[in-house]
Amino acid sequence: MVMAGLAAQAVEGAAVTALRSVLHRARQAAERSGRRADDVRVVAVGKTKPSSLVRQVYDAGHRCFGENYVQEIIDKAPQLPEDIEWHFIGHLQSNKVKSLLAAVPNLAMVEGVDNGKIASYLDRAVSSLGRKPLKVLVQVNTSGEASKSGIEPSGCVELVKHVKLECRNLEFSGLMTIGMPDYTSTPENFRMLSSCRSEICRALGMEEHKCELSMGMSGDYEQAIELGSTNVRIGSTIFGPREYPKKQAN
Ligand SMILES: *Cc1c(COP(=O)(O)O)cnc(C)c1O
Repeated sequence: MVMAGLAAQAVEGAAVTALRSVLHRARQAAERSGRRADDVRVVAVGKTKPSSLVRQVYDAGHRCFGENYVQEIIDKAPQLPEDIEWHFIGHLQSNKVKSLLAAVPNLAMVEGVDNGKIASYLDRAVSSLGRKPLKVLVQVNTSGEASKSGIEPSGCVELVKHVKLECRNLEFSGLMTIGMPDYTSTPENFRMLSSCRSEICRALGMEEHKCELSMGMSGDYEQAIELGSTNVRIGSTIFGPREYPKKQAN
């Protein structure tokens, strides 16, 4: 018992130490790219990790957290303080939109709108709940490889137009990419997202600083920031490697 408690404490302490290091490195990368240190938001991605560990990072002062599975955020959010800004990251299925919004009133952003139908679903769900407008990022497939989520770069202007003009309860806030299908990224992925932003801003008469770029994860967030990221999503570097239940042997 005592040993287990101490071990758990050591792990929790490690998450806070890792968070501080990530925040520091993110600020330095922002400054290297000629931006203000606070221009970059760090989303701490706690997927597969217990809410007690998320709570440790919260207690250290962090407020922005991300989750990638609807059921997991629905379970965790009510166990954690209401002033957390939750980001749902990645592909969202339309049949889960209502339960997500109902269970997480402090959902701040959905990073992963990749088609018009999901945007319209979100728009209607926000409207029927009467909550404040929901910030959304449009997810772009920047690798050119077959992947289950992300709109092709050639379709992003049209999708952003749909969100901005047809979805009154959504606030278009920028673009997001995961990179390669295996969740690694190349500088080309980051440059591609940035050029999608230029195209959108030209086509819709928007200022670039009003269009965020969510790119960069544990392995490449400093490089992503140097290439213009305003929002990095960091899981394993803060919370430790994820352990998934072992697959059944064939
Ligand atoms: C899990 C996840 C992350 C965090 O990944 P790490 O490599 O552990 O930092 C970022 N973005 C998305 C969409 C994810 O699903």
